[in-house]
Amino acid sequence: MPVAPVPRPPAERVDLSVVIPCYNEEESLPRLVEVLTEQLSALTPHFEVILVDDGSRDRTLPMLREVHRAHPRFRYLSLSRNFGKESAMLAGLSHARGDKVAIMDADLQHPPALLAQMLPLMESGEYSQVVARRTRTNDPLVRTALSRVYYKLMNRLVEVDLEDGVGDFRVLDRQAVRALLTLGETNRFSKGLFAWIGFPTAVVDYENVSREAGATKWSMRNLFNYGIDGVVSFNYRPLRMSIWLGLLVTAVAVGYALWVLVDAIWHGNSVPGYVTTICAVTALGGVQLIVLGVIGEYLGRIYAETKQRPLFLLKESSGSDAPVTSSLGREHEALAELEGHPSERSVLE
Ligand code: UDP
Ligand code: MG
Repeated sequence: MPVAPVPRPPAERVDLSVVIPCYNEEESLPRLVEVLTEQLSALTPHFEVILVDDGSRDRTLPMLREVHRAHPRFRYLSLSRNFGKESAMLAGLSHARGDKVAIMDADLQHPPALLAQMLPLMESGEYSQVVARRTRTNDPLVRTALSRVYYKLMNRLVEVDLEDGVGDFRVLDRQAVRALLTLGETNRFSKGLFAWIGFPTAVVDYENVSREAGATKWSMRNLFNYGIDGVVSFNYRPLRMSIWLGLLVTAVAVGYALWVLVDAIWHGNSVPGYVTTICAVTALGGVQLIVLGVIGEYLGRIYAETKQRPLFLLKESSGSDAPVTSSLGREHEALAELEGHPSERSVLE
């Protein structure tokens, strides 16, 4: 006897998903939940918040469980360890069900009130991304100056346009989310990826606010590494520059050798040159190490890409009672996500 197909339950309508990576945010969470509940319900009754615990060591995860129990619209994912903000955002994006997806920080430095200005721009259907731009920072002066110089340099080096003050705080439509999820690269520099996918983008300005509670997780060292990631992820000009550097040093060396030769012919060889030898050896050693480092950066990235490791592992989520362990984050995950999304289901079936 043929078995009648079990009808699928109608998918819950979600207009807006808000993805928030959280790493050791126990101090920020209570206020965050309070502000979001208030602001989001004013915007749409059909919202969801996806809090992604990025392997926090404090009480973040138990707090997320509690938040979900009290407010089912707040879902959570917990990664098996600290994978970094980029992976946490990706985990959230791949689980977001909304037609529009906002990304913001847990520390309320990205004011949720700004969504009221950003969403109407999306409604018109003209824009696929609406990004928030921070206009004034109260970062230390040195940091602000450094970041300005960095963006100047960066924009000369890479082919995508990056702007100072524009970060991860943005709203994306389904099309943009889908595009981001199909980019399978392991070394993710979101700022660049957001710019790389293109689509019509609108900008909304906001004034910088200080962290509500807790401390920043970005040390100067992290920022330096992040800077290098940005340059290396989007072009291979540093490799080209290594060649120029090599040529320059060679030219200097040849010029100097000629001069020493001519000098020896004219005046004879009096065997000084201890200082010159040391300088030449150390300078050349330095240049070689830098160039090797540049090559190594790219090689390391190729190595990481060939391993095809998932970008994050889930330990637990509000979606199921039992802890799930699965590898997610690559194209197949993006596809599963498309199948799950009501607006795309009719196309796939
Ligand atoms: N974050 C994360 N994983 C990390 C570091 C940070 O998910 O490894 C989250 C953090 O919880 C916050 C956001 O990324 O929601 C921004 O972090 P933070 O406020 O420390 O950065 P800043 O605002 O100083 O740039
Ligand atoms: Mg912050």
